[in-house]
Amino acid sequence: MQQSRPEHAALAGLGQRVARARAAATIAEARATYGDRLALVSSFGADSVVLLHLAASVDPSIPVLFIDTGRHFAETLAYVDEVRTLIGLTDLRRVRPPRAEVEQRDPREDRASYDPDGCCDLRKTRPLEAALGEFDAWISGRKRFQAQSREGIELVEGDGPRVKINPLADWTGADIEAYRIAFDLPQHPLKPQGYPSIGCAPCTSKVAEGEDPRAGRWRGFDKTECGIHFINAGEGI
Ligand code: SF4
Repeated sequence: MQQSRPEHAALAGLGQRVARARAAATIAEARATYGDRLALVSSFGADSVVLLHLAASVDPSIPVLFIDTGRHFAETLAYVDEVRTLIGLTDLRRVRPPRAEVEQRDPREDRASYDPDGCCDLRKTRPLEAALGEFDAWISGRKRFQAQSREGIELVEGDGPRVKINPLADWTGADIEAYRIAFDLPQHPLKPQGYPSIGCAPCTSKVAEGEDPRAGRWRGFDKTECGIHFINAGEGI
């Protein structure tokens, strides 16, 4: 007698559970391997809550680095506090650019408008590089579907002197949303307003239907990444 074909929904559900188990196992393996020398870097952006929740389910004391550039949306800063409290992260670290350097290199706080590479170098790349000095490995929430520039990312990559782990590399937007709903996690308040990718306020705009999810980042500039994932073209790097 011929067996009936499994329901599509059941297959999708199993696929999502397998993906979640694998992502959690990847984080657990990284924690076991690197211990206190492992950090997670989060923008607390549109999809960040899923990776943070997964990591907290493994160990809520994994250090979480949030790059506080000083140019974030107020909604993002409020979301950081909301998610930290809800998930129970016990080691959230705010990474900030040195005040003296900001006053010297961006005294009018308008560098993003004419030199975003330099601004990211000042406010993101260098502060994160300094903060990562005490770590051997870091976890990133990058996903392949987010942009053409991310299509080739691997689960585990070399990143200069460190190892970078991308537990959600092969997750889709639907996987992310299914997880968020399954665990009743709060959405970044700007996401339903047309922002599928959220960075600093001056460099984030709404995205139209059919556009790349990161099309709203640095709109008008030939720039697709902030520089923390590869060597920036900015000054001095
Ligand atoms: S995203 Fe924009 S405001 Fe933020 S650091 Fe980069 S250039 Fe500056």
